[in-house]
Amino acid sequence: MLIEKLNLKYYRNYDELTISFSDKVNVFIGENAQGKTNLMEAIYLLAFTKSHRTTKEKELIKWDKEFAKVSGRVRKRNQTIPLDIIISSKGKKAKLNHLEQRRLSDYIGVLNVVMFAPEDLSLVKGSPQNRRKFIDMELGQIQPKYVYHLGQYQKILKQRNYLLKQMQRKQTKDVTMLHILTEQLVSHAGEILERRFRFLDLLRSWAAPIHYGISRKLEQLEIKYSASIEVLEDANREKIEHIYMEKFREIEDKEIERGNTLVGPHRDDLIFYVNGMDVQTYGSQGQQRTTALSIKLAEIELIRNEIGEYPILLLDDVLSELDDYRQSHLLNTIQDRVQTFVTTTSIDGIHHETISQADIYRVEDGKVHY
Ligand code: ATP
Ligand code: MG
Repeated sequence: MLIEKLNLKYYRNYDELTISFSDKVNVFIGENAQGKTNLMEAIYLLAFTKSHRTTKEKELIKWDKEFAKVSGRVRKRNQTIPLDIIISSKGKKAKLNHLEQRRLSDYIGVLNVVMFAPEDLSLVKGSPQNRRKFIDMELGQIQPKYVYHLGQYQKILKQRNYLLKQMQRKQTKDVTMLHILTEQLVSHAGEILERRFRFLDLLRSWAAPIHYGISRKLEQLEIKYSASIEVLEDANREKIEHIYMEKFREIEDKEIERGNTLVGPHRDDLIFYVNGMDVQTYGSQGQQRTTALSIKLAEIELIRNEIGEYPILLLDDVLSELDDYRQSHLLNTIQDRVQTFVTTTSIDGIHHETISQADIYRVEDGKVHY
């Protein structure tokens, strides 16, 4: 798929921008703080309705303006699809084909994006939250149902935690209500976990050979799912739900004592190993970077396999960080098939092959020159 056209209005440091792209590689060059990441962020927002760097949407609106708008024209399966995100003090609107979509699950997934930015190293190095966010975003963009179940899960989890807090403070003893919420929670938890397991199967099968290639056939990558319950990954939804129910029964008193939900997909994690070694704890910076890159490249193939088209690739400030060997590996993966957006402060660190085939833009103070 492609983004043919992008339009920004009052987005970050942009006043108004209309820009068309090459369907191959687009390179954005500019000094620090000129608006390169803002541009990548705008494309990301169009795909996920969320920024990759902030949860405070007000920050996206240009200072002293009332609203921000990002519009794009996506080309997918020989159709042109208009997308708009409008952010104002009244909230956020997501439009597909000019019609507002109230449910995120009806919007997310039209534009598929894989982003690789410096902070993606936190996929390996950071907290479990980073890795859960990764699964949630990636799985969400290929399965609208996942977005739905996750949203429901989070809503019920909040209610359940609230009730547990009240029970902890002895303000209520409503065990019946607790059991109702537990059952609802478990029905979504089962969906989430089963879908995560299937997703991981796919991710592993793509990521391991890619990692092996990037590491010059030296490293075997393994990905383990660390669940807060004891469950085998080939378990089906009924089985998973059953295990959750048993566990919640077993820990009920403890949960009331703590005033918190102690197991569930919101407590799970991923662990990456190369040649049997935990990369987060023992991996070198290079190994951590290679792992993150392998996972991102795997995602490209995974999405292509699930959706039938390649996603768009955003490489914010990372290309020049990769050595020649890894850059060419990345280029081999994208070749001419993936519309790619690259940002950099200097053209020097970038493979001449990439540059020679790319459209080059200069970014300066919220303006883009072709
Ligand atoms: P670097 O090379 O350092 O990564 P960059 O070109 O990626 O730089 P961006 O992060 O895209 O830089 O842009 C940062 C600029 O945008 C900063 O100058 C910042 O002050 C400005 N900016 C951020 N948010 C807003 C906003 N809401 N309104 C106006 N300007 C903003
Ligand atoms: Mg930047």
